[in-house]
Amino acid sequence: MAKEGDAALVGRCLCGAVSFSVTAKREVDVCHCSMCRRWSAGPFIGFGYDGDVRFEGAEHIGVYRSSEWAERAFCKICGSSLYYHLLGTQHYSFAAGLLDPREEMVLTQEIFIDEKPAYYDLANDVPKLTGQQAFAAFETEKDPNG
Ligand SMILES: [Zn+2]
Ligand SMILES: [Zn+2]
Repeated sequence: MAKEGDAALVGRCLCGAVSFSVTAKREVDVCHCSMCRRWSAGPFIGFGYDGDVRFEGAEHIGVYRSSEWAERAFCKICGSSLYYHLLGTQHYSFAAGLLDPREEMVLTQEIFIDEKPAYYDLANDVPKLTGQQAFAAFETEKDPNG
């Protein structure tokens, strides 16, 4: 579902076995929650996408059901984190690190700031929401964490 201001974003995993192209906003957010950090080996920086996704190399995608309401995908060859998917919806959060580094993305917010470890801080001047504030902002009973 392309909207005004959307851009064609192309990404691939570390080994290149899995790649994709989606049309989405050039906006990323950062999640500091403990699940995202374990999954992506650092804060998870993702961009949202709603719709169907066609992957090249889909047979190399492994899917981990991380909670009752969400799954997280990775490349079975190189281990790159690919996307978070809210089950029963077409909502995905793709790992921004998969994009070409020249893509001009804008950081819009940090979430689960209350789960951020003390050993790093991001300097971006953006809203920093606690997990509870993030749930309220998403206006959904479905936990965006998980
Ligand atoms: Zn790979
Ligand atoms: Zn998270």
